[in-house]
Formats: sequence, structure tokens, C-alpha cells
Amino acid sequence: MTTEKSSIRKIAFFSTSKCNSKCVMCNIHAEKPTKDLTPKQLKKILSDPLFKGVIDVGVSGGEPSLHKNWKEIYDTLCSSLLNLRAIALTTNCVNSRKTIDIIQYYYNQSKKRNIKFSLCISLDGVGEIHDKVRGIKGNFKSAMNVIDWLKYNKINFTCACTVSKINVLHLEALREFCDNNKININYRLASKINRLHNNNSQTYHQLSKEEKKFLINFLLEEIHRQKRSLLKKITFIVNKKKIKKDKIYQHIISILKGNKRTSSCPHSAQEAVCLSNNGDLMYCSVASKIIGNCLKDSAKNIYLSNFSHLREIKREKCKDCSHDIIK
Ligand code: SF4
Repeated sequence: MTTEKSSIRKIAFFSTSKCNSKCVMCNIHAEKPTKDLTPKQLKKILSDPLFKGVIDVGVSGGEPSLHKNWKEIYDTLCSSLLNLRAIALTTNCVNSRKTIDIIQYYYNQSKKRNIKFSLCISLDGVGEIHDKVRGIKGNFKSAMNVIDWLKYNKINFTCACTVSKINVLHLEALREFCDNNKININYRLASKINRLHNNNSQTYHQLSKEEKKFLINFLLEEIHRQKRSLLKKITFIVNKKKIKKDKIYQHIISILKGNKRTSSCPHSAQEAVCLSNNGDLMYCSVASKIIGNCLKDSAKNIYLSNFSHLREIKREKCKDCSHDIIK
């Protein structure tokens, strides 16, 4: 029996649907962008009781630096969510100047406000492979410009590689590159995600039997590598993060073998919700339909009055969901 909670702890906020990448596993760039929320509209939405317990926001897009008011959007998130403790930014680094501007602002402001800032840079391969996955010539170079700047300024970051048919057999080269350049990288599966309109794109469903086997072995090796380095580490925080990484890879391996999801998800546990750039609300990005628009109705009303849809997702979709968001 599901208890209906009326406030959540985390928002996955897709701040804009504008994107300057043309990724093979995502079709958001092919859709006409919807109108982004203004800071004033966002402030009004976040005053809803559904968001009063939010401690963590993940800002992505599209590409967040393409929101014309990205600074004010950051300020509004911080000033409206009174319990906010952590903010994460995901960026594609296509335009390195713009990317550095947004990172610098998030980093400095978060430091001032005592909010934990995490940064995720997309890195899907070395050189041409990355550019091929991202559909943008020169994106590997621009990503490396940003990474060099981050290292020079001692700003922590993690890279994320989305594994699709295009790059699966090049993962070892990427791992070696990251090892040599002391880059921390996580691997995730390109999956069918409702909001990315990517039903016909390069998702893990198109991996051949051999490619799946290769990926399973690669992830198993990653787990062993984590364990080996775990022995060398002593801080609890680092260990906790690595244990979570292992859990994610175990879950991906299970899905690749055709088994069920092995970890629960904050969205199904009613701890997280997705808010789109135009105010649309979704239970999760993978399987949820748009359950309402927060400019037209209260977020809490929308969240609670569509609960049968969340039950349906949990009953029919979660078991096969390969998304790497875990509790
Ligand atoms: S479908 Fe996936 S992302 Fe959505 S609630 Fe279930 S496990 Fe979470």
C-alpha cells in the first residue's frame, strides 16, 4: 500500500529545452523549444507546499547555459527553496565560454550561500567518438577546454558517459584517457526516456548480444577497480559515493542481462519530482506523462491528484527501468 506524501526532497529541474548538442541518444534538439519559465514564474511555482522540503536540485536541460536568465534562475532556486543544501549542474560544454561563465557563477554563489555544488560534464568518448555521439564537431575540444579550466581552478567535477551503440566498443579507450588525465567518470546507459522523445534513437535496446556482453564485462571490471581503490581510501564520503557507483553498475548489469531493476528510485519513493522548463510537472523523466502545469494549478494538487499514474508506473515500468538514478 503506497502512502501519499505531499512534499518532496529533490527536484530534477530541466531549466530549458533549448539544446546546442545533437546527441544520437536524444531528440530534444529536434523538437521546437517550449517557452522557458521566467525567474518570476519559477519563484511563484516554488512557493507551492509541494516544494517546501526540497533540499536538493539538479539543473539540466537542454543545455542550462542557454536559458537567457540562467543567473536569475540559479538565484531564484536558492532564495525560494529555504532548505536547499545541494545543487547540481549538468552541462555539455559545447560553448566553452558560456559554460565557464555558468560554472563560475554556480560555484561562487554556492560557496557564498553554503550550498554544496556538484558539476557533471558529459564525456562520451575520446576525440571524434565524443563528437560523433554528441553530433557536434569540436565538442571534445571544447569539453577539454572546460576541464582544463576546472583543474586549473581546482573545482571538482565528474564526467558522465552515456553508453550507446556508437561508443560502447570505445569505452576502454575512454577509461584509459580518464585515468591518464585524472578524470573521474561514471557510465550510464542510453535509455528510452519519455521527455527526450528518443524512442527511435540509439538506446541500449539496440546493443547487440556481443556489445551487451562487452559492456557487462567492462562494468564488472569497473566494480573491481572501485573495490581496489576503496581499500586505499579512508574518508566516509568518498566511500559512500563509490558504494553508490557500484550499486548503479550492478543495476545496469542486471538490466543488460534482461533481469529486473535492482535498486529503488527516489521518484518512485515519492522523494523526487521533475519540473520542466515551461512549468510541466512529471513524476519521473523516464515513464511519466506530463501530469499538469504548475503555472495553471498548484504543484501539490497536481502531484496528489494524479497519484494513480505513479502507481501505474511503479506497477508496470519501474522493474525494467534502466535509469541510473537510485536511492
Ligand atoms: S520508471 Fe524509472 S525513473 Fe521512473 S519512477 Fe520507475 S524507476 Fe524511477
